[in-house]
Amino acid sequence: MTWLDVPGRAGEVAVIGLGRSGSAATRLLRAAGAEVYASDGGQGPGLEATAAALRALGADVTVGGHDTDRIAAARLVVLSPGVPPGAAPVAAARDAGVPIWAEAELGLRALGEGMPYVAITGTNGKTTTTALVGQLLEAAGRRARTAGNIGTPLSEIALAADRPDILAVELSSFQLHDMPTVRPTVGVVTNLAPDHLDRYPSLEEYYRDKLRLFANATPDSFWVTNADDANSEQWIPPLRGRRRRFSVTAPADGWFDRDAASLKVGDVPVIDRARFPLLGDHNVANALAAALAVHALGLPVSAITAGLGRAAALKHRMEPIREVGGVLWLNDSKATNISSTEVAIAAMDRPFVLLLGGRHKGEPYTRLAGQLGRCRVVIAFGEAKPLIVADLRGAVEVVEGGRFDEVMALAARLARSGDAVLLSPACSSYDMFTNYEERGGRFRALVEAM
Ligand code: ADP
Repeated sequence: MTWLDVPGRAGEVAVIGLGRSGSAATRLLRAAGAEVYASDGGQGPGLEATAAALRALGADVTVGGHDTDRIAAARLVVLSPGVPPGAAPVAAARDAGVPIWAEAELGLRALGEGMPYVAITGTNGKTTTTALVGQLLEAAGRRARTAGNIGTPLSEIALAADRPDILAVELSSFQLHDMPTVRPTVGVVTNLAPDHLDRYPSLEEYYRDKLRLFANATPDSFWVTNADDANSEQWIPPLRGRRRRFSVTAPADGWFDRDAASLKVGDVPVIDRARFPLLGDHNVANALAAALAVHALGLPVSAITAGLGRAAALKHRMEPIREVGGVLWLNDSKATNISSTEVAIAAMDRPFVLLLGGRHKGEPYTRLAGQLGRCRVVIAFGEAKPLIVADLRGAVEVVEGGRFDEVMALAARLARSGDAVLLSPACSSYDMFTNYEERGGRFRALVEAM
């Protein structure tokens, strides 16, 4: 049996979704000699070019729709991470009893049992923690790659000529839903909080998908979980293997000793808070999770110290752009919900002007009201502007902005030397931008032009 065999099934493999992951999966399957039918519901020149390239490799490709009968008759379906679990072609495959693998399952199977990996899931902090794990491994001289939701699909790693010796893999709950053989060397759950209720019928089902990370636990498994998170403590059952916990509030396997201002593994100081460059307690939590994960792999504390000291903020996540006239401009465009804006606000240690707005996602802004002690003024913008004004009036001064460049000019006028201007909008960007990256990019460009 090869990594691609599905007992009792023959015929072609159907790949659903032709973004970067689906396209890499199709190439990987063709390289392994499988017959492939790949399809994508979208349209446009980019997809047509992808389709042409994949057809040249011998795949049969449809863009602008899916042949659901053909998918329902496939030996196996490989699912791109961007495709909603309830999409019609996926439902057709499930109804027909076709095995479904997430693209990450395919890639990891191709890489084989011999490829160690740290898998990171959770509601918030996945990408940051995955990047930190990658940086720490590299600081220790390992040939590490980050993969999964953070950027490079596992299938691309499997296709590449230069094989890494270890991976840090970011996995979403959607991917975990279809990863029957997932068995990380070390598995990390950053936290469990309500999210994606637009895509899950209930919170319980969302958490249950996250917990699939543990499905194939063995006595050799290593797990890292969050002692500060009541949901993690409640939902993660006793597990086979060893489990380590991190905390930013109390002693734990990995913890933040606030009195000593030091991140520690057990009793051992790893790095002074002042020498770890990322802002906010949430990033201390991410650093502790990453430190425990690599410590489980045998990395020495000295390498962890070196790696954390060199950590750089990820783009659009509490990313300092620069100071202009004593005002620090911070890009947290990735904060597209209230809880991520809450952690950004909690990270602020100086007065700040807060840019809040975009497309409303449903949660009230009143949750922020009690935390705006250091906030000089909120500039509300975008479609959510009237709701923000109504929810925060009385708690903080709120002014109304117009176009994004006007919002930025207003912020520059209202901020005083020693302040920060924080773009942590608590809303999606789709009313004014293509995505949060474009919003953060505009922010950066306008700051750089000041
Ligand atoms: P994810 O990949 O899970 O979306 P990211 O690392 O990309 O997480 O961070 C996205 C946003 O989530 C950050 O801008 C920050 O506001 C918030 N965040 C990051 N880490 C944490 C954490 N450990 N706990 C709570 N919120 C966090």
